[in-house]
Amino acid sequence: MKVRVDTDRCRGHGACLGSCPEVFTLTDDGYAEARAGAVPEDLVDAVEEAVSACPEQAIVVE
Ligand code: SF4
Repeated sequence: MKVRVDTDRCRGHGACLGSCPEVFTLTDDGYAEARAGAVPEDLVDAVEEAVSACPEQAIVVE
């Protein structure tokens, strides 16, 4: 599983960070960014929670 944040949709609420701070960070511009590469197996549930928590549907699972 890989994820990325669609910056056209992201509004910087930060809900994703609340669910999985190991994968999502906020950039200086105030938008979320997902860590590159495959999501470690032990963080998949937390990332799925972040996907559900995002009010903008800005997290894209690849
Ligand atoms: S929850 Fe969604 S809209 Fe909010 S910062 Fe995270 S990716 Fe962006």
